[in-house]
Amino acid sequence: MKTDQTTSNGNYQRTSEKPVENCPKCQKILTGTIEVSSAVVGGISFVVMEETPDRNWILCDFCNQTICKSCCIMPDSGYCDECFIELKIAPNLP
Ligand SMILES: [Zn+2]
Ligand SMILES: [Zn+2]
Repeated sequence: MKTDQTTSNGNYQRTSEKPVENCPKCQKILTGTIEVSSAVVGGISFVVMEETPDRNWILCDFCNQTICKSCCIMPDSGYCDECFIELKIAPNLP
């Protein structure tokens, strides 16, 4: 037995935030943002983070530093250079 998707609308709110305006390393102007949407469906709340296509920066998952994508070797990893190297060396990563 499968529960039907309930499309009853609960609270839905949308915020977007960008921590800084310029890359701390190269001073490049940072564009784009992450849109954080939260929705409550069936009493359970979900948070969805989505980057806009023009986003040229990342927020390091490890040290919370904002840095532009051209200042880090692996922007897709979500980590800045320092953390990426550190985590790559750390034995708990493949
Ligand atoms: Zn930069
Ligand atoms: Zn970092």
